[in-house]
Amino acid sequence: MSYQAPLKDMRFVLNELAGLAEVAKLPGYQDATPDTVNAILEEASKFASEVLDPINFSGDREGSKYTDGEVRTPKGFQNAYKKFCEGGWNALPFEAEWGGQGLPRLVSTPVQEMWKSSNMSFSLCPLLTQGAIEALLLRGSDALKKAYLPNMVEGKWTGTMNLTEPQAGSDLALVRTKAERSADHYLISGQKIFITYGEHDLAENIVHLVLARTPDAPEGVKGISLFVVPKFIGNKRNSARCASIEHKLGIHASPTAVMVYDKAVGYLVGEENRGLETMFIMMNAARFAVGLEGVAIAERAFQRALAFAKERLQGRDLAGGGGAVPIIRHPDVRRMLMLMKSQAEAMRALAYTTAAALDFAHKTRDKAHQAFVDLMIPVVKGWCTETGIEVASLGVQVHGGMGFVEETGAAQYLRDARITTIYEGTTGIQAMDLVGRKIAREGGATAKAWIAELKKLDPQLSGHPEIRKALADGVKAVEECVDFIVGAKDPRVQFAGAVPFLKLMGIVAGGWQMARAALAAAKGTGDDSFDQAKIATVRFYADHVLVQAPGLRNTVVNGAAGVMALTEDQFLAA
Ligand SMILES: Cc1cc2nc3c(=O)[nH]c(=O)nc-3n(C[C@H](O)[C@H](O)[C@H](O)COP(=O)(O)OP(=O)(O)OC[C@H]3O[C@@H](n4cnc5c(N)ncnc54)[C@H](O)[C@@H]3O)c2cc1C
Repeated sequence: MSYQAPLKDMRFVLNELAGLAEVAKLPGYQDATPDTVNAILEEASKFASEVLDPINFSGDREGSKYTDGEVRTPKGFQNAYKKFCEGGWNALPFEAEWGGQGLPRLVSTPVQEMWKSSNMSFSLCPLLTQGAIEALLLRGSDALKKAYLPNMVEGKWTGTMNLTEPQAGSDLALVRTKAERSADHYLISGQKIFITYGEHDLAENIVHLVLARTPDAPEGVKGISLFVVPKFIGNKRNSARCASIEHKLGIHASPTAVMVYDKAVGYLVGEENRGLETMFIMMNAARFAVGLEGVAIAERAFQRALAFAKERLQGRDLAGGGGAVPIIRHPDVRRMLMLMKSQAEAMRALAYTTAAALDFAHKTRDKAHQAFVDLMIPVVKGWCTETGIEVASLGVQVHGGMGFVEETGAAQYLRDARITTIYEGTTGIQAMDLVGRKIAREGGATAKAWIAELKKLDPQLSGHPEIRKALADGVKAVEECVDFIVGAKDPRVQFAGAVPFLKLMGIVAGGWQMARAALAAAKGTGDDSFDQAKIATVRFYADHVLVQAPGLRNTVVNGAAGVMALTEDQFLAA
């Protein structure tokens, strides 16, 4: 069952919810006309279905292979990457100045969703390159930009992000890699682990962005600097080597490398000791992109489960008569499919709306848009990835035993999705960012402005009483939690409920977009069947997902006592 990009829903979200027409009026985005955007989506959809999807399952089976410092990607990856670059896809999100197409993020977002749905392992290579390009654009000197950006934007060279070390995962204050000054450059020494596409055979050169410390740097996060460490400098091999690749639960085709730097030549990006700042700006983009992986995997898992449910004959129709029927006739299977579909659509709507706000923030420097983006990034990252895993797991369930064996492909989505809540900051880290930095630190100002926005929708929903009630309850739950978080004196109490709060925010933010979707569909988009299905899907989301909000509110407000109650010895009462 090949991947079909959900073009109708993508266009609906772009036009009716995320405001593509308004984004296209921003300076520099005039090329994002409806015709151009349609053409891009059609072409991307073909590339995803015809080039990337066919090598997803085989790539998982074969995996990337390591021999003597070299990594061979699975069969078909080199050819696909060549076509990807020739088609200009790598350059899509970047400024024209560097050879990019200068399109808004709102347009590159559905395109990237397609890459992630059809082949998440493949999509990680351009994702990491994009992150490295953004760091150089933000803080690189003119000389660095000229030396690296054109080839990276074209895709001839790829990029990586080297943060993690054995003793420094979530806590980057513990980074130990050293950077010693030497004439116009630095000599980088140390070991990095888990480096996605740290070594591979897709491109001529690999540009590593490495966090390291200079000898006189202060302790902790204030002493970390960022360096460009290329695999090749001209024709000369730098001493940045891949020592091995990890054996993983999923994304087998994406090589995750242990990198060893032994006095490798590196060039400072920005100022000494300010590397983490640059990484953090970049991480916003990377966290958004990983959140989109949740949307994409949910969509792909849903499509496969739907196809299976239409074919698999089992059980009698409850309406009576006849022999075995396709399992899609059974209410419980329909419930699972609707959970998959409605959550994928809610997540897509939230992700694309956030992408539009990113475009507004980027072009207008408007503080309200940036504040909304900052509030929503941990939600998009944390909620979409956690939900993506749940949806992929439902996909296995719809398949029954055939989901648990590898042949149907349903299991691969679950295995691939499992990393998304871990890398780029675990869900726990996202939730602490949301609760601490984005809410408590500013007295809940942005969250309250957003809540006021949600309340404005209420009277418009009078024609949809069930949706209206579920959303109103959800908004009340968020409001009470924000007050609780802002008022809490003990950070342990704030953080004990941080992940349930993040889930609540996601469910309600998704519900907000779904309610707007129901209103747009009720007005009519010119496609009656789509409109009817959308309203029914929103009603399902309200009854099955949004209704969880009051329970989550109780967990956030009352749950800390239970979280902190046991001594460390009491956890296992042997
Ligand atoms: C396949 C894969 C690809 C990756 N790609 C890259 C890459 O390209 N570049 C890169 O630099 N890294 C990469 N990583 C590393 C990844 O970002 C880290 O694994 C991640 O940040 C978590 O760090 P850790 O594994 O050390 O877990 P730890 O930090 O040890 O966390 C373990 C658990 O403790 C929790 N925890 C930790 N600290 C706190 C805290 N203060 N409060 C509450 N809970 C906490 C975490 O949420 C988690 O549940 C990759 C990892 C994998 C597996």
